[in-house]
Amino acid sequence: MNQFEGAQLQLGRALKVQHISDGLRARLLRPERELTVAIPVTMDDDTTKIFEGYRVQYSSLRGPYKGGIRYHPDADINEVKALGFWMTMKCAVADIAMGGGKGGITVNPRELSKRELEALSRGWVKALYRDLGPEQDVPAPDVNTTPEIMKWMANEYEKLTGDKRNATFTGKPLENGGSEGRGIATGAGGFYVFETLRKELGLPEEVSVVIQGMGNVGGNAAKIFAEHGHKILAMSDSKGGIYAEDGLDPDAVEKYKKEHGSLKGFPNSKQISNEKLLELKCDVLIPAALENQITKKNADKIKTKIVLELANGPTSTDADDVLFKKNIPVIPDILANSGGVVVSTFEWEQNLKNEHWSEKDVLTKLRTLLNRESKNVFDMSRKLKTDLRRGAFALALTRLDKALEAKK
Ligand code: NAD
Repeated sequence: MNQFEGAQLQLGRALKVQHISDGLRARLLRPERELTVAIPVTMDDDTTKIFEGYRVQYSSLRGPYKGGIRYHPDADINEVKALGFWMTMKCAVADIAMGGGKGGITVNPRELSKRELEALSRGWVKALYRDLGPEQDVPAPDVNTTPEIMKWMANEYEKLTGDKRNATFTGKPLENGGSEGRGIATGAGGFYVFETLRKELGLPEEVSVVIQGMGNVGGNAAKIFAEHGHKILAMSDSKGGIYAEDGLDPDAVEKYKKEHGSLKGFPNSKQISNEKLLELKCDVLIPAALENQITKKNADKIKTKIVLELANGPTSTDADDVLFKKNIPVIPDILANSGGVVVSTFEWEQNLKNEHWSEKDVLTKLRTLLNRESKNVFDMSRKLKTDLRRGAFALALTRLDKALEAKK
C-alpha cells in the first residue's frame, strides 16, 4: 500500500462514522490538480542535472491551497498526494481559511552544494510560479526545507511576478517577513492541545513524557512541557535515546548534543534504543520524528497512557486499532501538529495586512484556537463514539461539506 492509499483508507474509516455528501466524497478521492515538473540545475561541475518536482493542489474548498515543500530522496507523487490530503483535513480541523496542498522535490539536499540547493529551489518556483500566489497557493517549509530556502523562493517569486506583498511563501526568516513564534509553533501547539485534553483523558496534573526525535518539533515540545513542570523521562535522535528516571533538562540535552554530536554519555542518564524508548511506561508518548513508528509490530508493547502525534503519520492504521482496544487514546497528527500551519497562516495574514505581531500575540491566538478546536474534536469523538482520529476527520469533513454547500 502506498502512502496515498493509506490516507484513503483513513478517509474510508472516517466515512463509516460520519455521513458526507456524495459531492464531497467524490471530490476527496483525488486532488484537484497534480503538477509534476522537471527542474534543470547547472551543477558545480557544469553538467546539467534534471530533478523531479511536485505540487499537489488537493482541495481549494475552504481557501487557497496551503502546505509545505519536502526535499527527500524518497519523495514521490503518491507521498505528496497523501500529504496534500492530510493538509486539507488539518486546515479544516484548525478551522483556518485554507485548503490543502503539498509540494516536494526528489533529492537528497545533503548531496548538493549551497549554490546548487539555491538554484534548485529557485528552479522549483520558475517551473510553478504561475500556479502559486497569496489567493491561489501558499507553500511553506517541510522536511529538509528551511527558512532560508523559503527566502530564496519568495525572492524568486517576486522577481518573476512583481508581486511585492511577500505573502506567497510562509516560514520565511523573521527579517524577511516571517512571523514571530513560527519556529516553536508546532511544538507549542502540541502542548496547547495536550493541556486542553489532559483532564478529559484522565491524566494527572504533572505528567511524565517520552519524546522520539529532538528536531524543531520534538526539541521545542520538550522545552514547553518542561517549562510547565512536566517530567521529560526520555528523548532521542536518529542515533538513539537517553532515559533518566528523575527527568531530563531539554536545554542541557540540546547543548550536549550540539557539543558532542549525539546524546551518548549525557550525565546521569541511561542509553536506550529508539525501539525501547517507544515502549517505556509513561503518561504521554510523543513521536516527533518520522512516519510509521507505531505499527502492528510494536503496538501491543506500548505502555504509555496517551500518544500525542507531533510527527505526520507516526501510527499505522492497524496500530490505531490495537491502541484503541488497549484504551490508549491517540491525539491525531491533524490536530496535534497543526500549530505550524496555523502560525504559517498568521504569517500570510500579517504579510497581506503589512503588520508584524508580537510573539506573545501570536502564541495567545494560537493557544485560544487550539484550545477551542481540541475541545471540538473531543466532543465529536464522544458524539460518534469513536476514537479521536475519526473524530478529527469527522469534524474536518463536516466543515468541508459546509464549504461545498456554500459554493452551490
Ligand atoms: P527535524 O528534521 O527538525 O527533526 C527530526 C528529528 O527526528 C531529528 O532530531 C532526528 O535526529 C530525529 N530522527 C530521525 N530519525 C529518527 C529515528 N529513527 N528515531 C528517532 N529520531 C529520529 O524535523 P521536524 O521539523 O522536527 O519534523 C518532525 C516531524 O514533525 C515530521 O514528521 C514532520 O513532518 C512533522 N511536522 C513538522 C512541522 C514543523 O513545523 N516543523 C509541522 C507539522 C508536522
